Amino acid sequence: MKIHEYQAKELFRRFDIPVPAGAVASDPETARQIARDMGVLPLVVKAQIHAGGRGKGGGVKVLRDLNEVRTAAAGMIGMNLITHQTGPDGKQVKKVLVEQALEIARELYLSIVPDRKSARHVVMVSRAGGMDIEQVAEKTPEQITKIYIDPLLGIQAFHCRQAAYGLDLPPAISQQFVPMLRSLYKLFVSYDCSLVEINPLVITTDGKILALDAKINFDDNALFRHKDILEYRDLNEEELLEIEASRYNLNYIKMDGNVGNMVNGAGLAMATMDIIKRAGAEPANFLDVGGGANAEMVENGLRIILSDKNVKAILINIFGGILRCDVLSNGVVQAAKNTGIEVPVVVRMEGTNIEEGRKILTESGLGLIFAADLKDAAEKIAKIVRKK
Ligand code: ADP
Ligand code: MG
Repeated sequence: MKIHEYQAKELFRRFDIPVPAGAVASDPETARQIARDMGVLPLVVKAQIHAGGRGKGGGVKVLRDLNEVRTAAAGMIGMNLITHQTGPDGKQVKKVLVEQALEIARELYLSIVPDRKSARHVVMVSRAGGMDIEQVAEKTPEQITKIYIDPLLGIQAFHCRQAAYGLDLPPAISQQFVPMLRSLYKLFVSYDCSLVEINPLVITTDGKILALDAKINFDDNALFRHKDILEYRDLNEEELLEIEASRYNLNYIKMDGNVGNMVNGAGLAMATMDIIKRAGAEPANFLDVGGGANAEMVENGLRIILSDKNVKAILINIFGGILRCDVLSNGVVQAAKNTGIEVPVVVRMEGTNIEEGRKILTESGLGLIFAADLKDAAEKIAKIVRKK
């Protein structure tokens, strides 16, 4: 789960990680009042969306008087902000953060992520902050220092020194930075984060170090033990179909292609997407209906796939184990009756009660296309969408 910058900064404050003074507003008048109450100028107004790159996309403005704050907020709230991270459709801005503008001497980069390969947490720092860190990583990876931390031992003094050295911090700044990094690590671990990122981490002209931007992603599988974080969830930012799918306990992720697919088991779903791509087509989604799915879940899954207007054909790939082939087939027939499937459907099905399952589908009169195996299924589906 992702949260907004202003929410991440709220958490930072709770962990004593320094951030600029500021507050969030949903309308221009409130933005102006916040600015007046803060009593400092200049200020920045920052669009709150679950995507970065706002600076370049017009979502961060520096302002010198109260009326300018109001005008900037009015311009941003309701606007569709397009950045390199939002995709071409952009994201609608519902809130802005009104924040003290700082005089910046240096912009740095700091983040913590889990590293699966080494089974360690990794702190990443770079002197080249503020800009596109992906580009730095690609073009000049030597500018990023990575510090691996054994999660059982936690962060130690030497890790902090390595990070401070990587950032080339003078001693006075380093003294502020070390407790800040320790707190950030504590936040990262105690909230089961999959990412905490400060870009830029700034040193001001008066010698302070602060988090100017704040990004936190949480591991969804651990959210049950962080009820306070669930309150930060913003459904406006999430894919409608994914919200709907989560209501039915379906693991659905929307993608950009046109081949809808329904599979039981996450591993088989990944393999199915790979084989669709290998056959020259693009998956429209990931959907794992789960091992213990019933006919109703199959119907809901198909309905969600069909609500995606890009879908030109559907591949059903089921290995009947706990989900028996006859149960799946009944679900497909039920879905066809209730929602009407108007795109070609290729079915590859094996396993428990296969004969019964095939019989139900064949007798349904739905005109389904049967495949002999997964390769055959992928080739058939690719051929169909190529013609469209
Ligand atoms: P994004 O990563 O979405 O572009 P940031 O919060 O990193 O958004 O802001 C982009 C840039 O705007 C920063 O690199 C910084 O130069 C400037 N900026 C952001 N907030 C402030 C602030 N409070 N004071 C001064 N400059 C700011
Ligand atoms: Mg940033």
